[in-house]
Amino acid sequence: MTENNIILSKALAMLCLASIVVLTQGQITPSPPSNLPKNLATKLRTDPETLSQASTDYGHIVHVNASAVFEPTSVNDIIELIKYSNSIEKPFTIAARGQAHSVNGQAMAQNGVVVNMTHLGDFRNGSGIIVSDKYVDVGGEQIWIDVLHATLKRGLTPLSWTDYLYLSVGGTLSNAGIGGQTFRFGPQISNVLELDVVTGKGDLITCSSGKNSETFYAVLGGLGQYGIITRARIALGPAPSRVKWLRLLYTDFSAFSRDQEHLISLNGTNAADYVEGLILINKPPLDLTFFPESDQQRITSLVTEYGVVYTIELVKYYNPNSQEQVKKEVANLVKDLKFVPTFLFEKDVSYEEFLDRVHADELFLRSKGLWEVPHPWVNLFIPKSGILDFNEGVIKGIILKQNITVEVFLLYPMNRNK
Ligand SMILES: Cc1cc2nc3c(=O)[nH]c(=O)nc-3n(C[C@H](O)[C@H](O)[C@H](O)COP(=O)(O)OP(=O)(O)OC[C@H]3O[C@@H](n4cnc5c(N)ncnc54)[C@H](O)[C@@H]3O)c2cc1C
Repeated sequence: MTENNIILSKALAMLCLASIVVLTQGQITPSPPSNLPKNLATKLRTDPETLSQASTDYGHIVHVNASAVFEPTSVNDIIELIKYSNSIEKPFTIAARGQAHSVNGQAMAQNGVVVNMTHLGDFRNGSGIIVSDKYVDVGGEQIWIDVLHATLKRGLTPLSWTDYLYLSVGGTLSNAGIGGQTFRFGPQISNVLELDVVTGKGDLITCSSGKNSETFYAVLGGLGQYGIITRARIALGPAPSRVKWLRLLYTDFSAFSRDQEHLISLNGTNAADYVEGLILINKPPLDLTFFPESDQQRITSLVTEYGVVYTIELVKYYNPNSQEQVKKEVANLVKDLKFVPTFLFEKDVSYEEFLDRVHADELFLRSKGLWEVPHPWVNLFIPKSGILDFNEGVIKGIILKQNITVEVFLLYPMNRNK
């Protein structure tokens, strides 16, 4: 066995209120940068409501007060703001804010200026997303669901996705953008051909792997610390119209892990188009909405009996004229897998419905008032050599033993070379 793969474990410990610490930073009364040129000053907002919005994020754990929120109407505004800050004796902190779906205050600026990127999008006049044959040029403030809609109109699609699409392009490219296609195409940052970036000096630079590459690689996955992405050119491929979406249940972690590794080792038409995994734990809330109602009782019994059930989620894309072919491909993919016999479940949905699947969860959580609550979340990359220990030590040894409530627990492998 080689050591080529890593496994991503993502967990959201839901409503463990006792363990949540609310950090209120920025105790000094914020004041807006003074002597700003008039054309910039008119775009600064300092009203309490706007400042309060900019001092929180999806995590609802960290609260940091900015002095002002800047609402750019052009890329030039961002350039001027950064140049102005550099020109004064004490430059202020500047943070770009996309959709603020960070969980630890990453898009906040203590006593500084938060740049509301969404506002820029309102002034693009239709130039926010421009689709060509092989790529799409996207404003850093645009959200992925809109990129999907625009590219699908041309029968095209980006290749690598996050699970949730209401995130900004600049936000995910500042992290990595990982999901079930990463094992094939790499994270989203591996699918970027070119960027326009406003650097910390206030220069607008076009960069790629062959041009200003230092800036390019610093900004991709750069946590917003090396410049503000104002445009990204993202590679496209042909879009499928439908997907076969499968979940396979395991009670034996070794078999689950071996099968995940096997699935991401396949290439070409034999390969799955998406592989992730999740864990079902014998503790409410047990979300079984994916599964047919008639099977939910026997799945609950399995979870109750074993305490934890491991689930491989895999997808095969297809077009309506290849219905028979995809059936054969799916049968071939699963034929040697060691899931619990008869615990294989399949759905057939449109490509868009599959990619946008988390939006339904968002609407549900919002309707229950659970979107605006603290969301502690941890992502871990674990080498293949440690994954059995992770199951014994963390999943069984801590989560099950201490009866910890975990709402979402994803666990899936990636090829390190991607
Ligand atoms: C429900 C949910 C599901 C998620 N699923 C996944 C997933 O499957 N895979 C995954 O990889 N991530 C996932 N994430 C995490 C998400 O990708 C990151 O939190 C991402 O940063 C969110 O984008 P945003 O627009 O909200 O960024 P923000 O939170 O607004 O910003 C994040 C960081 O990027 C910087 N930034 C924002 N815009 C720019 C810009 N234009 N130029 C430079 N820097 C910028 C900010 O300053 C900050 O440092 C998920 C988040 C949520 C809430």
